[in-house]
Amino acid sequence: MSDTLKVKPGRGDALIIVDVQNDFLPGGSLGVPDGDAVVPVMNRYLEEFRETGLPIYATRDWHPEGHCSFEAQGGPWPPHCVAESKGAMFARDLDLNEEVTIISKATTVETDAYSGFEGTDLTDRLRKQNVKRIFVGGLATDYCVLNTVKDGLKAGFQVLLLDDGIRGVDVNPGDSDKAKDEMHRLGAKSITLENLASAHA
Ligand SMILES: [Zn+2]
Repeated sequence: MSDTLKVKPGRGDALIIVDVQNDFLPGGSLGVPDGDAVVPVMNRYLEEFRETGLPIYATRDWHPEGHCSFEAQGGPWPPHCVAESKGAMFARDLDLNEEVTIISKATTVETDAYSGFEGTDLTDRLRKQNVKRIFVGGLATDYCVLNTVKDGLKAGFQVLLLDDGIRGVDVNPGDSDKAKDEMHRLGAKSITLENLASAHA
């Protein structure tokens, strides 16, 4: 989208903040490079949605000990986001409050979920609220953001990818760019705060 195009969140829109949890921040057990940079940006989007009274969701990895995605169990990742642990808490500076609906995912030993839609009631909740378009940002671009966006599109929602509010792992260099290309190809559009028509403008 061009810088001049303005997007104003309104009825039918919802914000989805993906996995902005301590373990995915630099210093966490599965830290995303520069991952903390999404916090102030997502706070700006949060402010817009809060002021207009629109639905806000925050997804989180919420794994039991010995989760199948952990290396000791043959999975690809070090232990991370064990339910109730400090690493699983949302970033301290992320401006969440009780208006935010928390969606916990991959909560059993035998199932993993990169997407906030997988194994959760997120689709039902959004449909009940007559949501048509979702604004998606968070961590990480090439895993949980990618899969949340793909499932959102599959479920029939329009998707705006919050380009300045995402960061990637890039296990292989270029993974994040590839993920973005894929999301765009499937129909997601990228915006940044520049595109957001302020609720108080
Ligand atoms: Zn996980």
